[in-house]
Amino acid sequence: MNNRQLFLQHIAQTSPAPIGIEMVKAQGIHLFDAAGKKYVDMISGFSVCNIGHSHPKVIKAVQDQAAEYMHLIVYGEFIESPQTTYAKLLTDHLPASLNCVYFTNSGAEATEGAMKLAKRVTGRSKIIAFNKGYHGSTQGALSVMGDEYWRNAFRPLLPDVHHYDYNSWDVIDAIDAQTACVILETVQAESGIIAPDKTWIQAIRKKCDDNCVLFILDEIQAGFGRTGSLWAFEQFDIVPDILLLGKALGGGMPLGAFIANQKMMNTLTYDPVLGHITTFGGHPVSCAAGKAALEVLLEGKFIEEVKRKEKILQQNLVHPAILSYRSFGLWMSLQFATDELTRAIIHRCINNGLITDWFLFAGNRMRIAPPLIITDEQLIEMCKVIIQSIDEAER
Ligand code: PLP
Repeated sequence: MNNRQLFLQHIAQTSPAPIGIEMVKAQGIHLFDAAGKKYVDMISGFSVCNIGHSHPKVIKAVQDQAAEYMHLIVYGEFIESPQTTYAKLLTDHLPASLNCVYFTNSGAEATEGAMKLAKRVTGRSKIIAFNKGYHGSTQGALSVMGDEYWRNAFRPLLPDVHHYDYNSWDVIDAIDAQTACVILETVQAESGIIAPDKTWIQAIRKKCDDNCVLFILDEIQAGFGRTGSLWAFEQFDIVPDILLLGKALGGGMPLGAFIANQKMMNTLTYDPVLGHITTFGGHPVSCAAGKAALEVLLEGKFIEEVKRKEKILQQNLVHPAILSYRSFGLWMSLQFATDELTRAIIHRCINNGLITDWFLFAGNRMRIAPPLIITDEQLIEMCKVIIQSIDEAER
């Protein structure tokens, strides 16, 4: 049996139509398949590889840490320097109130932990979330996901979760003294990149303050420079009570985190003790990789170049079939007439050596989120490939 047959037979499938290319190497912005064909990763493994693939400093950090130790004991018992030093680096680059990190294995687990923390801190259960928001696929995270089509087959889900339209002022009245938390993406990803109105998100922050409601921002996709600042919330002059991180957090290794104030976080240590536990959360190799990746990101000029590169995309992606675009940083969605046309264009792009995809809640939008290390010239070249792929798909 070849690898493709093994993949289809023994790997649990997530859709009837996987991309199904066997990749054998990844380097910088490029992926290489088993036949030696080179692709440009224009979605960064879904915003994981913001500094590109296989950065030598990340590889070295992984190798060095693996040689020292890997798993020792469940999370939170021994002092493990990859965790402590990474938590210090992260909190050094966050507002003072976000000073305590709970590392998890994934973004969804960060969502779960944050919702539990909000219930524990407030003693309330009502949760407010948003239509077309995505926070993970576990049952708690699914409960706050904002799309009935994806949720419905898995009911019953968490009770007392209320969804509102993103950027709709209706939500403000709903935030009350029974509410434990409001959870939202600082910039919605899977709706096809929707940024919040600044006054709207600030009004939510204020209403949360007025009612002692925890304000949770999910930057699992938006964080680590994707939007042109290290954290997207910086551009809206707000600070969350709990910040969710994942994806690029691990520099290519599995890692998530919910970050809050230490006083708040300490509520998970008593009544009951071990209020949130994980065996592998904050794995030392993942933390070492994530710290190395964040250092690379901070040392380079990548974040300050994001807005200029966003303009390159906007200027070069002009075609009658592109009905509209939305972008926020090096993060863009292109709208086409139908889901079918979008799939056909994506298929042509991949054939032409450019990896892209659609959005979970916007099947007629194509995703662009290249590694932040991509050069201006490479971006212009990729825009040409996209235009050519649209022409081919329309033929
Ligand atoms: N939140 C957002 C905004 C995401 O985009 C994702 C993953 O796509 C998650 C949460 C869940 O992260 P994970 O897939 O690591 O569980």
